[in-house]
Amino acid sequence: MGSTERDVNITVGVLALQGAFNEHVQLLRHAARILATKDTTERDWTFKEVRTEQELLSCDGLIIPGGESTAISLVAQRSNMLEPLRDFVKVTRKPTWGTCAGLILLAESANRTKKGGQELIGGLDVRVNRNHFGRQIESFEADLDLPFLKDNHASTQQSPFRAIFIRAPIVEKLLPTVSGIQEDEATVDDTVIAPSRPIDESVAKTINLGDVEIMGTLPGRTAAIRDDDTTGRLDVEAGDIIAVRQANVFGTSFHPELTGDPRIHVWWLEQVVKAVSQRRNP
Ligand code: GLN
Repeated sequence: MGSTERDVNITVGVLALQGAFNEHVQLLRHAARILATKDTTERDWTFKEVRTEQELLSCDGLIIPGGESTAISLVAQRSNMLEPLRDFVKVTRKPTWGTCAGLILLAESANRTKKGGQELIGGLDVRVNRNHFGRQIESFEADLDLPFLKDNHASTQQSPFRAIFIRAPIVEKLLPTVSGIQEDEATVDDTVIAPSRPIDESVAKTINLGDVEIMGTLPGRTAAIRDDDTTGRLDVEAGDIIAVRQANVFGTSFHPELTGDPRIHVWWLEQVVKAVSQRRNP
């Protein structure tokens, strides 16, 4: 489908309740300049910090930054943003990317969390293990091979993506894609789940929810923490899952906004362009 005038204005928000939101806004601006050199349509991008429902409703896509997922969820709850966020991600199904704490919030299930300790937005049929690699001082950097970056960026495809992991979660289990709350998950100890939402019918026609795709792994790293529940855990050689996508929702365990490498932001903005085009020209 070709671009039309109606695809020109695109607004992307960064949830600015807590965490590294400013860094994302800067990198989005940088990414849009790169995209402008290869996009045949000249676009008018707006990047904005999002704190209110009204600001969220003006967005075509949203980034939920890293920070502290319990703090973000608490502020979201107090500022009446939880339900609008769930609608944005799960009902209207607009492109949403969560980094680190953002990935935790976008999971349907998160463990190592006290019941009632935090609310999830959901959208990704996965269980995340919060703070999988341990505490702040156990933060690390790693070179990642991210196959999805290779499709478009021939000139840079050789260089690995340097990723920063800070009290990072991993996806420890892909959940079966069934509608409604993952009831089995609710019975797992120290695990919270996101409430289910029916997808908007008009949106359902244009989007295929499908299964969760693994977009990146971190090989050769043993989990810092193990518990009795080993079901669904990857073996060390296969690696820990650190990037996933399902329909409109994308999540990464690490912080691309802290390294200044714009490649994932460029790629994600391309996904936003596609989604906007589908939505506006059904
Ligand atoms: N593990 C943290 C949490 O639970 C996230 C850390 C981060 O975003 N850097 O929210």
